[in-house]
Amino acid sequence: MTQITRSPLKYIQGSGELYRLGAYCRQIGATSACAVVDPYILSHYGDGIARSFHEADLPLVQLEFKGECSLKQVEEIAAGLDPDATVIIVGIGGGKTLDTAKAVSHIANLPVIIVPTAASTDAPCSAISVLHTEEGELDQYLQLRRSPDIVVADVEIIAKAPPRLLAAGMGDALSTYYEARACRKSGAITNAGGTGSIAAFALARACLDTLLAEGAEAMKDVRQGVVSPAVAHIVETNIYLSGTGFESGGLAAAHGIHNGLSVLEECRHMLHGEKVAFATLVQLMLEQAPEDEISGVITFCRSVGLPVTLWEVGIAEPQEDRLRLAAVASCSADSPIFNMPFPVSPEQVLEAIIAADRRGRESNKDC
Ligand SMILES: [Zn+2]
Repeated sequence: MTQITRSPLKYIQGSGELYRLGAYCRQIGATSACAVVDPYILSHYGDGIARSFHEADLPLVQLEFKGECSLKQVEEIAAGLDPDATVIIVGIGGGKTLDTAKAVSHIANLPVIIVPTAASTDAPCSAISVLHTEEGELDQYLQLRRSPDIVVADVEIIAKAPPRLLAAGMGDALSTYYEARACRKSGAITNAGGTGSIAAFALARACLDTLLAEGAEAMKDVRQGVVSPAVAHIVETNIYLSGTGFESGGLAAAHGIHNGLSVLEECRHMLHGEKVAFATLVQLMLEQAPEDEISGVITFCRSVGLPVTLWEVGIAEPQEDRLRLAAVASCSADSPIFNMPFPVSPEQVLEAIIAADRRGRESNKDC
């Protein structure tokens, strides 16, 4: 069986990296740059970013990200690029801004630098761009030919984002090891297009170990505005370890159940990683994981403010027909839940959701 590991060409992390972007673009041979920038970042840091490109003697166009990451917007940006320059695309901001930059680079066949300004998901390193319609509905998952050329994480900027985003990123990272483990057992094909590798599994393990060791400390520090080593380690965990770990290690029940929960209106206000955290607990119930693993995940979630009960993911009064809706959606035709090493039915998922909620509520009584 073919085994594939993919990752960005380069992952750069440090403080003040936002102001070195011009030099990084220069290093990979660009003669001009086109940046798609989140509106908040543009108004607060746009001048500093422009200065960094000026110092690198690299012409820069900054476009404010507006509206949706839609094919229409992506094609418009691509059509406006200078055909005579060696342009590099730069995405600076949150998920939709970054997905727009990735899609533009894919369509125009140009290199891209991805600069996440929060560590709320593990998407930045991946070769996927999620496109929406102009109205904001999910349109398609665009599979990119290449992974991002460079991913730059400026820890100081990321630490200034709302702490809830860092916690959500930890929820997304929490599932990575358990899903990679399931895929390893089943021999599933990962997002990278082959079976999982030792490298990806080792990154997934390091991802979990770092969360458990430093997650709570990192949350305490960001809440106090301190950019500590723990914060830096969790930024690397959420963005790089989890990103490369999931892409080449594989997704399984946790993300399938996340997708199932997402069909419920009452969960819509929850962040991706928050739903993934609870769904990870559901996966552990589904696979009848060892007791210390289950209690370890619950303790971790509690320590960083991630949900472990249905009430905490927005379902105040759980009703079986609503939960069944989520369980059925978790098992839709293309769901990663079928990467589990055993057959999974909606009925089993429903039971696992109820069991996870029960365990979560019991842990409430303990503390
Ligand atoms: Zn995810």
